[in-house]
Amino acid sequence: MNVNDIMNSLEAKHPGEKEFLQAVHEVLESIEVIYNENPQYEAAKIIERLVEPDRILTFKVSWLDDSGNVQVNLGYRVQFNNAIGPYKGGIRLHPSVNLSILKFLGFEQIFKNALTTLPMGGGKGGSDFNPKGKSDTEIMRFCQAFMLELWRLIGPNTDVPAGDIGTGGREIGFMYGMYKKLQQENTGVLTGKGLNWGGSLVRPEATGFGATYFADEMLKANNDTFEGKTVTVSGFGNVAWGVALKVTELGGKVITISGPDGYIYDENGLDADKIEYLLELRASNNDIVSTFAEEFPETKFFPGKKPWEVACDIAMPSAIQNELNGDDAEMLVKNGVKYVIEVSNMGCTPEAIDVFHNNKLPFAPGKAANAGGVAVSGLEMTQNAMKINWSSDEVDARLKTIMSSIHEACLKYGTNDDNYINYVKGANIAGFIKVADTMLDLGV
Ligand code: GLU
Repeated sequence: MNVNDIMNSLEAKHPGEKEFLQAVHEVLESIEVIYNENPQYEAAKIIERLVEPDRILTFKVSWLDDSGNVQVNLGYRVQFNNAIGPYKGGIRLHPSVNLSILKFLGFEQIFKNALTTLPMGGGKGGSDFNPKGKSDTEIMRFCQAFMLELWRLIGPNTDVPAGDIGTGGREIGFMYGMYKKLQQENTGVLTGKGLNWGGSLVRPEATGFGATYFADEMLKANNDTFEGKTVTVSGFGNVAWGVALKVTELGGKVITISGPDGYIYDENGLDADKIEYLLELRASNNDIVSTFAEEFPETKFFPGKKPWEVACDIAMPSAIQNELNGDDAEMLVKNGVKYVIEVSNMGCTPEAIDVFHNNKLPFAPGKAANAGGVAVSGLEMTQNAMKINWSSDEVDARLKTIMSSIHEACLKYGTNDDNYINYVKGANIAGFIKVADTMLDLGV
């Protein structure tokens, strides 16, 4: 394989899909050597088959706002690859959503889900619907209208959507309610469900907890711990909340959170009240972190800025793709950062990752670090299929084991001759081999 040739032909087929092309490029660069050493992959045209989704479904979502006006959004489901299990991945509701973003997320999901050790393929869905400022009833009508189209495409053994940015427990509830009306059955067709109706304990915390367990493994590999470490976190949603809870429990100090409007700096580290307030912020559909500063005047608000200018031991971007660029990375390194854990999907630009690698910093890519969310979704599917509920200790123990096995896989495939661990390479190769070998087993 020649990465440039493949990228050129992909770009010609899908011009302008920059996030998707970025995600593919990163994976191809990592797996090039392994791929070329194993001619059976080329013979079966594994790359050509991996970079095109099995199918993409787009649909129109019409709904009525509270004033009785008709609103129209675009809905999508990208069913990318189901070699190792049903398509699995969240639903993103955000005005930035387009096909390129959902294809990049679906592509990442293939490898992430493979890393979890559970049988899940990769998919993603979403809409350009903006939940910001919408009432509960508007959210409900949108979610119902969205499911009115989506239900035909999904099923507990074929495609299992879940939450993502803009889709939390409330949205999953409205979508699941509509699915039940249409399909007339209780199934595990969505994950992230409420506890009373088939959800799993620890699912809301899982992405943030899992990322922190992964970070803890990285620290341990360097004979280090979270104790007393300063941690900068971006985002203010479910994921940032889970990170803040677990980092604090492990003795770290979360000194920032952020929103599109700027970041909050709290030199003492967020306490329990502030961490809980993050959930209220998320539920308000109002991505205004400045309201946080009003609620807690001892914190400092830096409007329009990103938290990467703050000196810290550990940086954990937990908001959205490409939120940390090359300049931000330079600044973090200059200020003495020791570890970077990308909790958001593709949160760091390729330039930023180069800066971390060139400085031999331990850097975890999102597809390894944030896999705890979808892993506990997989555990929710298992509990639904078995019609039982595990205790939170049981789910948490399984989550820990999964995150540590992902870390092991990264070490196995990512440790360089000089002992530097390239987690990007490790995660991409481990995920790729599992999916590619399955595709070989299953035939064309
Ligand atoms: N949206 C999450 C992710 O990016 C979770 C997906 C799921 O639980 O299916 O992995």
